[in-house]
Amino acid sequence: MIILDGKLVSQSRREKLRPRVEEFQRLNGRAPHLVVVLVGDLTASQVYVRNKEKACEALGIKSTRIDLAGSISQVELMKCIDQLNEDSGVDGVLVQLPLPGSLNPDEVLMRLRPDKDADGLTYASLGLLWGGRGQIAPCTPKGVMSILEHYKIPVAGKRAVVVGRSNIVGKPMAHLLTEANATVTLCHSRTPSTRDYTLEADIVVVAAGKRHLLGKEDFKSGAVIIDVGMHGTGAGTSGLAGDVRFSELENWAYAATPVPGGVGPMTITTLLENTVTLAELRMQKK
Ligand code: NAP
Repeated sequence: MIILDGKLVSQSRREKLRPRVEEFQRLNGRAPHLVVVLVGDLTASQVYVRNKEKACEALGIKSTRIDLAGSISQVELMKCIDQLNEDSGVDGVLVQLPLPGSLNPDEVLMRLRPDKDADGLTYASLGLLWGGRGQIAPCTPKGVMSILEHYKIPVAGKRAVVVGRSNIVGKPMAHLLTEANATVTLCHSRTPSTRDYTLEADIVVVAAGKRHLLGKEDFKSGAVIIDVGMHGTGAGTSGLAGDVRFSELENWAYAATPVPGGVGPMTITTLLENTVTLAELRMQKK
């Protein structure tokens, strides 16, 4: 079985991005600039944001972190987004999700200018993507496509199943696979028997958010399995885990992503790519 190594793909893509960052700096006298807005003090979010900062730093992308108290009002948070929208020195903005309970993430995303939407999650960005005119795609599904591309896994003409239909992962994933000419089925919690579909699939992307939900008996031999799931350590568990029982796939799947080290690193890499693309597009418009 080929282990689809997201760290390796990330490294290769980040090195390809470096000359674009340097060229941007040369032409504009400044680095592309990403602002990450972090509301509250959720430990997992703090770790993600720190990793994003480190990745930017390593590539010469400027990153600024705005820490806001979890008690901030919706109005104050919107004001912060408005300021970032207006700031000509900011190329990309990412609001780290989830937001604390009382805040409405949809309203925040709708307020953000699509030409600064580094995560590709505003409705405008998604609409452009669906219309075939998008230049920014949501980071995790685009990262999955980069893994498939890197390992030259054929997608056109294949049967693909996506398990999970969130706006962040499942739906855009199904869209990107469709654009790459796969025939796609989207399963969710109301699908009576997900296995009926996954067993027929050449490529399965699992993003259900259920630890170890699927294993060998759910996939046909020779399939490509992409595990988006990410589950931390907790009582009775041993280490990070995905939605797939990876250990069962050896001598069964053609290729699969491990957790950790599969899709995870690709999400940040795509964020860097999106930030540089947004910066380049804004400068072209000037
Ligand atoms: P989500 O918003 O909770 O969506 C989960 C989806 O899975 C829903 O559409 C749900 O169906 C479906 N589902 C749940 N149980 C199912 C089952 N038994 N069979 C079939 N479908 C089922 O989660 P998400 O934000 O998409 O994230 C999914 C997973 O990916 C999580 O583990 C998350 O931590 C991980 N993730 C990882 C990265 C990364 O960088 N690696 C990035 C984002 C997310 P309904 O719509 O019917 O409820």
